[in-house]
Amino acid sequence: MDKSWIEKKIIELKNKFCSNANITVPPSYAQKNTFSGTEAQVNLDRWKNNEFTLTIYPSFFKISKKNAEFVLAHEIMHIKDIISNDFGYDGSLRGYNGCDRIANLENTIWEISIDMRLEKMGYAKIQEYNERVSEYINTHWPQYKNRFTLDINDLAEVINNPTCGGIKSLAERKNNDWIEYLTNKN
Ligand SMILES: [Zn+2]
Repeated sequence: MDKSWIEKKIIELKNKFCSNANITVPPSYAQKNTFSGTEAQVNLDRWKNNEFTLTIYPSFFKISKKNAEFVLAHEIMHIKDIISNDFGYDGSLRGYNGCDRIANLENTIWEISIDMRLEKMGYAKIQEYNERVSEYINTHWPQYKNRFTLDINDLAEVINNPTCGGIKSLAERKNNDWIEYLTNKN
């Protein structure tokens, strides 16, 4: 994977999913990973201006071309959702270290919804669904480990008709299930 392959692929994906977006790729590929397991990341801070920065991390170069394409498509799907009127983005769903449980779950659901949509479009499958869910949950939400399910049926709506509001309401429902679980346990 060289620089020109990456640049070509980004242009191809941008034209396919979000041709109106203004995406900048910083020229340096030598930046440190923010946390391990992140090969690329889109910065959404300037989403209201329709300006996005897509950073490629060194670990990106260690994965296969098929996976690299999936990673780039995943990042560009975040942009696609944000600029689509149907999605109704409001600045949320981003998650961050130390954010509350619902905010974290909203982010997790958005991530999985993107991956599942890409798979439906025929992009290479990197992981089995259940592995992916537990990886997201273990990474972002370890207190839920082994006690929480995010069934594929739960996600059908946010895969078939992804909206910011739909993702947030699913997160709230799942969070209520969790509270109910804790209540019944005690
Ligand atoms: Zn993502």
